[in-house]
Amino acid sequence: MAISEFDLIDRFFARAADRSAPGVVAGIGDDCAVLQLEPGERLATSIDTQVQGRHFMFDTPPVHIGYRAVAAAVSDLAAMGAQPRGMTLALTLPKADESWLQGFSEGLHEASRNFGCPLIGGDLTRGPLTITIAVFGALPPDRMLARSGAQPGDQLWVSGSLGDAAAALRVLAGEWPGPAEEAQYLLRRFYSPSPRLALGQQLLEHGATAAIDVSDGLLADVGHIAHASGVRIVVDSKSLPLSDVLFKFPDIKQALTWALTGGDDYELCFCLPAGAIAPTGCARIGKVVRGSGVECDFAIEESRGFRHF
Ligand code: ADP
Ligand code: MG
Repeated sequence: MAISEFDLIDRFFARAADRSAPGVVAGIGDDCAVLQLEPGERLATSIDTQVQGRHFMFDTPPVHIGYRAVAAAVSDLAAMGAQPRGMTLALTLPKADESWLQGFSEGLHEASRNFGCPLIGGDLTRGPLTITIAVFGALPPDRMLARSGAQPGDQLWVSGSLGDAAAALRVLAGEWPGPAEEAQYLLRRFYSPSPRLALGQQLLEHGATAAIDVSDGLLADVGHIAHASGVRIVVDSKSLPLSDVLFKFPDIKQALTWALTGGDDYELCFCLPAGAIAPTGCARIGKVVRGSGVECDFAIEESRGFRHF
């Protein structure tokens, strides 16, 4: 007999630990999920869809699809300075493929545990493979990291290193020229991004004036800050933080292009007033001036970032 929708939810998605996570009043199994916020807290929410053939390929292992979908969604909470409280999953499947669901749900639950974001509800339908995750997070009553507060005189910072996820596409294409450890490192960066949750919350205290997560490519994402803030941002290509693997890559122009235009790194890019020092692990990569748009001393032909339309 065919397995029912409810059996699938019970087997692959409902977890006791999620139902009893802090702040979860009602989780999977009721008509709505209910979250308890502390008095005065604000709710931050964001939703992301991933479509097979567009955001991931037909041969991507399901465990990676699950992990990455959660990491990408949670990264938006990090970019606002919010603390994850829960997520819902709308899953459209061509068929009830139990081995695919096993891998996908493992990746999803692992990311959910790593980022402290319990799965509290969802939906399951039949159709072309599509994964939609909505995340819910808490912000203090008086602060958030918007894109819109950058001021001329601020300095531009970024966490971690840039370009690794873009370089991983070379690995996936079977074209990585370096040793296997490098390829492994790049694939980890691509499949298991680390949304910068702790940094986002710290930046609320550091007086960051604007922030965004690097999902479309640094120049494109910095452009969003410039546009929302009504300022011009100057990026210094010589200060871009590169991993050891990209730093050693023989074609430095290619490495810089990955760092400036490659998406999917999920680092945080943010502005601080001049003289303010960012938390450790961040690099100063530019400055905010009067005007509009983004300026970079390294010329790239196509720097719009990924666009669907
Ligand atoms: P309703 O008909 O009231 O919308 P459903 O029958 O669709 O409820 O779902 C039953 C319960 O299972 C709900 O709590 C819903 O949030 C949850 N749920 C459904 N699909 C998923 C999923 N893919 N992942 C997690 N929870 C799910
Ligand atoms: Mg209902």
